[in-house]
Amino acid sequence: MAVSATVVVAGAGLAGLAAAWELSRAGANVALLDAERRPGGMVVTERPGGPGEKDGFVVEGGPDGFLAAEPDIQELARDAGIGGRLVDQLASGSSLWTGRRLEPLAEGQAAALLGIQIPSDVGAQLAAPLQFGFRSFATGMLDLVEALVARLAPVFRPAQGVTGLAPATRGWRLSLNGGSTVEAEAVILALPAWAAARLVTGAGVPAARHLDDVIYYPSTTVSLAYRSDQLAAAPAGTGFVSAAEWGESGAAVRACSYSWLKYPGRAPPGHALIRAFVGPVDGDPAAAAHAELAGILGIRGSPLWSRAFTWPRGLPRYEPGHAGHVAAVRERLTRLAPLAIAGAGFDGAGVSACVKSGREAAREILHRLGHV
Ligand SMILES: Cc1cc2nc3c(=O)[nH]c(=O)nc-3n(C[C@H](O)[C@H](O)[C@H](O)COP(=O)(O)OP(=O)(O)OC[C@H]3O[C@@H](n4cnc5c(N)ncnc54)[C@H](O)[C@@H]3O)c2cc1C
Repeated sequence: MAVSATVVVAGAGLAGLAAAWELSRAGANVALLDAERRPGGMVVTERPGGPGEKDGFVVEGGPDGFLAAEPDIQELARDAGIGGRLVDQLASGSSLWTGRRLEPLAEGQAAALLGIQIPSDVGAQLAAPLQFGFRSFATGMLDLVEALVARLAPVFRPAQGVTGLAPATRGWRLSLNGGSTVEAEAVILALPAWAAARLVTGAGVPAARHLDDVIYYPSTTVSLAYRSDQLAAAPAGTGFVSAAEWGESGAAVRACSYSWLKYPGRAPPGHALIRAFVGPVDGDPAAAAHAELAGILGIRGSPLWSRAFTWPRGLPRYEPGHAGHVAAVRERLTRLAPLAIAGAGFDGAGVSACVKSGREAAREILHRLGHV
């Protein structure tokens, strides 16, 4: 397929969608390319419809929400006309599974135990109780992707993986899988760090090889559905984190969200939906998760159904010096034709940070193209 555009955005995860949204809003001629057929990247929401035991559930395979104190994703949602679909968490508080009992955790402690890096400006706001909490969208994180894609559909090119990037007479030439090429005055790479590292290094920026130092940790989530009466009692809070000794003893469940208590509309009345974060297991992760959760939460019988999502490269973690490497690459890019990098691999793993990163990259490119 021939693609012609002033700006190519490679990667249609939240960072790329936010970048393409910003560019398109400013009237730029954009093409949004993704290697996959499905836009959204790590955002995967399933809403199994039709009559059947899965009807009425909202199942998240990737992110399920964001801190209410993070403004960027909420601003984008409002700009995209779906501010009314933002929903607050219903329950609050989380617990620690010690291996014997569930003990309440202080606010923010669960994130610390999971090693989730909360930006310092957001961390400061967490001290204010009204600011604390998480938000999501009425029928899952995909609501935002769908709202953005509704506008970007004419410029979205699925199954167009970028395999090479080289300077062209006026801007850049991108090689795509399948052998075709596309030229553009400007490019935004909203790709995982390893993919951007390869392309930017190949385009003549040796310092970009350090971007590949970002480690993406594998992750498996398992969603399990039950009838409410299979649980001894509704648990308190939004979920639990397992103590380190529990994982070290060979147990599978690292953390667990009570999805149906956390956000509205995640399970039909009379049902419970639980999402477990599972470490490496021999055999079926859903069976391992159910066996442990049955003991922890007093669940009788088998799940009605289960759904596992495996992310061989899930959440990124940054090595010391990461911010310096990213800044050095960005500084180098200012001396080339307009080229920007955006996304979780560079500016923070949270969905709101990705939106901010994508929009900022777009504004920088617009500025360099003389749009602003
Ligand atoms: C299990 C799980 C749970 C999470 N939970 C939360 C949460 O609750 N809250 C939160 O804030 N964050 C959470 N995160 C993190 C968050 O979802 C991600 O960091 C964020 O969605 C990443 O967005 P992105 O646009 O930077 O990258 P991605 O979503 O990874 O998008 C990159 C895109 O680039 C495409 N691509 C790759 N290579 C190429 C190529 N060569 N050419 C073209 N396209 C290419 C990919 O197909 C993909 O669509 C979670 C992540 C996981 C895995």
